Amino acid sequence: MQLYSTNDTDRSQTVSFQEAVFQSLPADNGLYMPVFIPSLDESFLDEIEKLTFPEIAFQVATTLLADEIPALRLRDLVEDAIDFPAPVATLDDEIHVLELFHGPTLAFKDFGARFMARTMSWFLQQSPQEKERTILVATSGDTGSAVAQGFLNVPGINVVLLYPSGKVSEIQEKQLTTVGNNVSALEVSGTFDDCQRMVKEAFLDQELRKQVSLSSANSINISRLIPQSFYYFNAYAQLKRDLAFNPDWPLVFSVPSGNFGNLCGGLIAQQMGLPVDHIIAATNANDVVPEYLETGKFTPRPSVQTVSNAMDVGNPSNFARLLAFYGYAGSDEELLNSIQEDISGNRYSDENTKQAIMEVYEDYYGYIMCPHTAVGYLGLKDYLDKQPARVNGVILATAHPAKFKDTVEKAIGEAIPMPEPLKEAINQPKKAESISPDYESLKSYLLDR
Ligand SMILES: *Cc1c(COP(=O)(O)O)cnc(C)c1O
Repeated sequence: MQLYSTNDTDRSQTVSFQEAVFQSLPADNGLYMPVFIPSLDESFLDEIEKLTFPEIAFQVATTLLADEIPALRLRDLVEDAIDFPAPVATLDDEIHVLELFHGPTLAFKDFGARFMARTMSWFLQQSPQEKERTILVATSGDTGSAVAQGFLNVPGINVVLLYPSGKVSEIQEKQLTTVGNNVSALEVSGTFDDCQRMVKEAFLDQELRKQVSLSSANSINISRLIPQSFYYFNAYAQLKRDLAFNPDWPLVFSVPSGNFGNLCGGLIAQQMGLPVDHIIAATNANDVVPEYLETGKFTPRPSVQTVSNAMDVGNPSNFARLLAFYGYAGSDEELLNSIQEDISGNRYSDENTKQAIMEVYEDYYGYIMCPHTAVGYLGLKDYLDKQPARVNGVILATAHPAKFKDTVEKAIGEAIPMPEPLKEAINQPKKAESISPDYESLKSYLLDR
């Protein structure tokens, strides 16, 4: 796979997948994008319901990466990374919920983080001249723990997590700060946007990068995005297998979004041939992308805090990729029009979100959604209301409801049990170093350790 930078629109320079994974961010401050996204064989999609999730993931991965990772190795790698299920719960004939939260940290980011960790580890083994690597991650809550678990005890790799003090839930903080071993947590007295900016600055600091080998595990890293296309295919396979898919109705995904990495996974799947008719970009009050989809104006701004905090992003880092999927030819207006054909956006308040959690619980036999998933539910509901035709609607359920226990229990008026991995984290002492929200403090931390 060859990749170019979104800031190099004539694609004068390309890099290999391995280089893009390690570099993470091109020096010109763009994002790596595949020069070409190949299509899957039609026969694969016609008979996809006969395949297991790891088999599907392998087919997609090998179509993209076979030139750099040998097929047998890729098969092991995928089986190892994707060793937990992503079942579909059907609420009614138009509303299906793709549960992506059955991995070690109970959020969808486990897919990306585990695939990325195993890919990097393999590339490192192939390159004995490589020094120790530091994985630098800004987290609004869920990314950090998924990455920490993904890379835990991977030889030659240290993980440094930055999280905004007081802006992640108690459970999330415990998940971030109790991993230990090769994982360190930095508690930043600022917002998630501060954390993201500090990390970005480190990647653009060529002097620092000469001294410390840095890689990012945020969704700016292309190896996080690729595995996030796998489960879109698997959702389609399950719906077909369970005869829950109506071939006369279009396939629509509703994606609760923050940095828009998950949604870009859906665009990869669509470009590879999955018959995705429409994608709903559902956000909380941090609505710069829905605003762009309505007005054509993209106005990043400071993030505001909501109950779906993993989506509290004021300057979504994958926006440049979103545009790049639709090419650079034509005017801004033509670009917007072609994006609007595939994607529509909507934003929801915390009040709407809590009501939705209760509504789903009451209307669908006690089904419980996390606040992020509830935003996705609202996005699909509004789409169904506006849509005269019927659809096969799939909501991406991004986290286990117990990760957001307080909000969810208040909404449904009932206690929810705590899954085992969360209980374990809660009972351990927090270990984090506090730093101020400026790049210099991060830089000296990285140089001194
Ligand atoms: C990260 C996250 C999101 C947002 O995903 P993006 O890829 O950043 O758009 C939504 N829900 C949960 C639970 C998350 O952890």
